[in-house]
Amino acid sequence: MGGGVAFRLVLAHLYPDLLNIYGDRGNVLALARRAGWRGIEVDVRPVGIGDAFDPTGVDLVCVGGGEDSKQAAAAADLARRGEALRVAVEDGLPVLAVCGGYQLLGHYYQPARGPRLPGAAVLDAHTVAGERRLVGNVVCESAMGTLVGFENHSGRTFLGPGCQPLGRVRPGASGGNNGEDGGEGALWHRCVGTYLHGSLLPKNPHLADFLLRAALVRRYGEEAAAQALRPLDDAVEWTAHRAAEGLAPAHRR
Ligand code: GLN
Repeated sequence: MGGGVAFRLVLAHLYPDLLNIYGDRGNVLALARRAGWRGIEVDVRPVGIGDAFDPTGVDLVCVGGGEDSKQAAAAADLARRGEALRVAVEDGLPVLAVCGGYQLLGHYYQPARGPRLPGAAVLDAHTVAGERRLVGNVVCESAMGTLVGFENHSGRTFLGPGCQPLGRVRPGASGGNNGEDGGEGALWHRCVGTYLHGSLLPKNPHLADFLLRAALVRRYGEEAAAQALRPLDDAVEWTAHRAAEGLAPAHRR
């Protein structure tokens, strides 16, 4: 690393045994690997129900998606951690929450059957199950560039004024947050909620680096982050990105 600065990040992976569907664990692997290629060590810590977890002491948080029953198992525990997580997010903590995990970062998720699940209220959003599932390959345009992934959810997520959509789905390219307003995901500070599985980050390296940069800036400052996050050869990643882009409905002929 030349300058001899050793960079180390702690990544909390919330409920890896419950919320991990359609390859969501690949997001954790992609973050760790992209950091590792730059000589940045990532200490991945699984956090399960009841485990000790102080969000101010970690650099990245990932939570994946899962079926309603798995969400029901995790909801109360995550809601209990909401205040601490919100404070850390306001301090710049980067979070990636996918689908079921995204829904649980909002105020609540009302499944089709069973009681309303409390959310962590980190994101100003709420989710209600719809009658038809939104399933398919998605392309959306975000401030950080085009994002590609796969969605499969019945939940319809509606954002309040407290957060912005992460991106906008291309017309005809599947549902996004609710199949109505064109929004996909949510962004608040450096907290990213999204319906995109895939795994998402291996084929969206710019989003992976957005999260890594945020983690490095918060821990080590702007200058050190710029030094640590040297560019990688992402030819393979962008090939995967373009292949996924070609699968989305708007691009079918
Ligand atoms: N159970 C939620 C839904 O269907 C989330 C599903 C998921 O995480 N893929 O809306």
